[in-house]
Amino acid sequence: MTRLIRSWVESANAPDTDFPLNNLPYGVLSAGGVAHCATAIGDQVLDLHALEQANFLDFGGALKTGEWNDFMALGHAEWQRLRNILTGLLSEGAEAEGPLRPYLTPMAEAHLLLPFRVTEYTDFYASKHHATNVGTMFRGKDNALPPNWLHMPIGYNGRASSVVVSGTPVRRPMGQLKSPDDDAPYWGSSKRFDIELEMGAIVGQPSDGPVTVAEADAMIFGYVLLNDWSARDIQAWEYQPLGPFQSKATATSISPWIVTAAALEPFRVHTPEREVPLLPYLEEPGPMLYNIDLEVGLTPDGVTETVITRTNYREMYYSAAQQIAHHSSSGCPMRVGDLLGSGTISGPERENRGSLLELSWGGKEPVELVGGTTRSFVEDGDTLTLRGAAVAEDHRIGFGACTGQVLPARNWPKEG
Ligand code: CA
Repeated sequence: MTRLIRSWVESANAPDTDFPLNNLPYGVLSAGGVAHCATAIGDQVLDLHALEQANFLDFGGALKTGEWNDFMALGHAEWQRLRNILTGLLSEGAEAEGPLRPYLTPMAEAHLLLPFRVTEYTDFYASKHHATNVGTMFRGKDNALPPNWLHMPIGYNGRASSVVVSGTPVRRPMGQLKSPDDDAPYWGSSKRFDIELEMGAIVGQPSDGPVTVAEADAMIFGYVLLNDWSARDIQAWEYQPLGPFQSKATATSISPWIVTAAALEPFRVHTPEREVPLLPYLEEPGPMLYNIDLEVGLTPDGVTETVITRTNYREMYYSAAQQIAHHSSSGCPMRVGDLLGSGTISGPERENRGSLLELSWGGKEPVELVGGTTRSFVEDGDTLTLRGAAVAEDHRIGFGACTGQVLPARNWPKEG
């Protein structure tokens, strides 16, 4: 079992911190209005841009760009070199303590920006519990899973432009709506605005042509928490035959810290047992998922939070590596900064469902919140908070929070 690496940053040794020295996640700090690459250590943020300028680090200027893309492009040897250097500089007893202290900023005062330039965004539908729940609601229990589902990770090409960093407010979308009872579609605000609890995998090395699952796994730089905001009523009317479009294009929130694949390495687990054999190009050569506890809190405006679901990333039927292998199988190139949404992560029980659509069973069984109010879908003023951590005996590899508050819809064309 992996053990805590102690740091001279005392808060990094607390068992409940998301950011022990074992983690070293990568984010971007706004420093005097300029974006600086940074890492988190305990309750502090370490400015790596400033460290490179002060010649503590030399990565050819890759840490001075205000986004992690250039560093990711340097490849594995440099990824490991930075991790080794930072581990040495921040370890308990390191001589660097005095010189490095001026480069620390308290996390509570840090303004964090999007950690990388999202070059492409693809979202999948790869949790069997989620697909079964949604399919049962819309097509009945006997036809819950589409015939292709057990053979490939189903996905759609999303919008990189929709990805925002945690803390960014999300405007309830307007759109074209039509229920089976309506004669014609009408224009209105989404009444069934929802969340999807997902993990995002970040591609750190490009490909041109098909890659194996093992090659795909090695291309992944790290992971973030991801909330795929979804307008269920817009989706219901638009999704046939080409899948979701405007229902998923409003916003996709991600957590501000990229937790590296290196930090998650001790927490690898196998995907669940296959129900039917996969074609060879999708077979996993080893454990490609991670044991990461996940939860979502819902906080109505000015009221106490209720944790509405708890699940685990290991519930996925397909890993991110399998998704990349499938994504590239047609020859589709993958780029540095490509973001892949896992798909909603639901577990086997009701309390493990990763969306309000499932938790409230399409609105038929509203979720009870602390204080006695209920929710079928997200209401204006609600703040949704995703949290996640891989948990070891004496430390945890956490992601920080991924939050977003929902603002009321705004009609257009804008008036006045
Ligand atoms: Ca999704």
